[in-house]
Amino acid sequence: MAWQRDLIFDAARRYTSTFEPDMLTAAPTRGIVILTCMDARLDLFRMLGLEVGDSHILRNAGGRATDDAIRSLMLSAHWLGTREFAVIHHTGCGLFGVTNEDIATKVESATGIRPNIDFLPFDDIEASVRGDVERIRRCAALPRDSVVWGAIYDVHNGCLLPIDLPVPIIGATEPMVR
Ligand SMILES: [Zn+2]
Repeated sequence: MAWQRDLIFDAARRYTSTFEPDMLTAAPTRGIVILTCMDARLDLFRMLGLEVGDSHILRNAGGRATDDAIRSLMLSAHWLGTREFAVIHHTGCGLFGVTNEDIATKVESATGIRPNIDFLPFDDIEASVRGDVERIRRCAALPRDSVVWGAIYDVHNGCLLPIDLPVPIIGATEPMVR
């Protein structure tokens, strides 16, 4: 496989040549954070009607509410003023229907190293959305005047299905673990 680096820098040079500074600041103008999967098929700007500067977008495998995702939510909320958090998982996710065992075995067969981490796979997409919404909702370090909601994006028909209506952050009723 040819590396993409040269093409990326070619594109970056073209971008620089036409770049026009704007008035945007680091704070998202619409006050929202989208937590979603790294899946290459998700065109978040077009599917959610977002423009550059509107939103923070956090992406990881599965769009899971990991400690690191929550680290970013804390910074987004307390430093840059966001108050609405969205969890969007999607159909056809690579983490759907696999197990930590499956993933660890694949990594071990390629590298000889068996990772001992939770990759956060899931076999119920609604439950994974609800669980991550709940985890964020119970985070005591997020502002109480913020809300979190969940949705599922269907990669086959482009539909965004609401799962959880916006619910307020209620803070920790149990220790944050994951
Ligand atoms: Zn995915």
